[in-house]
Amino acid sequence: MIEGKYVTFTIGRQKRIALIAHDGMKKQLIDWCADHKDILQKHFLCGTGTTARLITEYTDLPVKAYNSGPLGGDQQIGAKIVEGDIDFVIFFSDPLEAQPHDPDVKALLRIAQVYDIPMANNRSTADFLITSPLMDQEYDHKVINFQANVMKRVEDMQM
Ligand code: PGA
Repeated sequence: MIEGKYVTFTIGRQKRIALIAHDGMKKQLIDWCADHKDILQKHFLCGTGTTARLITEYTDLPVKAYNSGPLGGDQQIGAKIVEGDIDFVIFFSDPLEAQPHDPDVKALLRIAQVYDIPMANNRSTADFLITSPLMDQEYDHKVINFQANVMKRVEDMQM
């Protein structure tokens, strides 16, 4: 539904969850997935290449794999958020290790904010999110109306 500056999007009952962990955090994310397997298996899961494959190997959860993070996987997930195909992100980034793809990581955080996507970047936040009653419900949220935004920008930039 279009309402001027904002559009209402609905996160469905079945969430489309992206799972990402930097190398130093992969074990923690795999353990977390194992602990919440009953809930996670009700949703559609995807993730960056290595993380996705490791989660499937250790938990048997089906996880669609994008490219590895340093090779563009974070950007692919960001693009899917923009296209409305991913609506929930668990991203255990490593706060103690510099990453070669730091700009991509930052871009993903930013685009998740722009599209008002629930996103956890540590275990306790992920625990709170995954046990929320909203996991079993539809959730309406307001996102910037990108069509109106482009029209306004075109108008403002008439030369
Ligand atoms: P990976 O990528 O799952 O392929 O290791 C994660 C990342 O570093 O962003």
